[in-house]
Amino acid sequence: MSIIVKNMLDAKGRDVVTVTPEKTVLEVAAVLNEKRIGAVVVTGVEGRVTGIFTERDVVRALATKGAAVLEQPISSVMTVTVQRCREETTVNQLMEMMSSGRFRHVPVEEGGQLVGIISIGDVVKSRIREVELEAEQIKAYIAG
Ligand code: AMP
Repeated sequence: MSIIVKNMLDAKGRDVVTVTPEKTVLEVAAVLNEKRIGAVVVTGVEGRVTGIFTERDVVRALATKGAAVLEQPISSVMTVTVQRCREETTVNQLMEMMSSGRFRHVPVEEGGQLVGIISIGDVVKSRIREVELEAEQIKAYIAG
């Protein structure tokens, strides 16, 4: 059996922490810290995805622009070419996306609407479950 994003969202929930692009780097760093998450999705008009901003972006912004960047809007440092997935995307496809794109978060979109987010931690959890299920099926087949 192949686990898909829909199964993962059914288990973990569909809440996504979003921010608007004019929030400052410092404000969004506080959100990441308070919510204990690594990424926020940046939304614009009608809740459309306009970017993604992660802890990695905080480090990069500080290193390349200096401490003054903390007061700048995240729109100046966020990633705007956001790779997304659908509820039908498989765990294997997510692993391929994350490893080839070198990122650990993928927003889920259906019909242009944000319906969830998958982190690399969710992918690892699902992949372990998938391997366990495969092992159970093989054992049942051998026994049976
Ligand atoms: P992460 O590993 O998720 O902290 O992200 C590493 C870098 O990739 C950061 O610059 C993020 O803004 C960017 N990034 C994260 N997720 C995505 C995504 N789904 N599509 C494109 N870029 C992303």
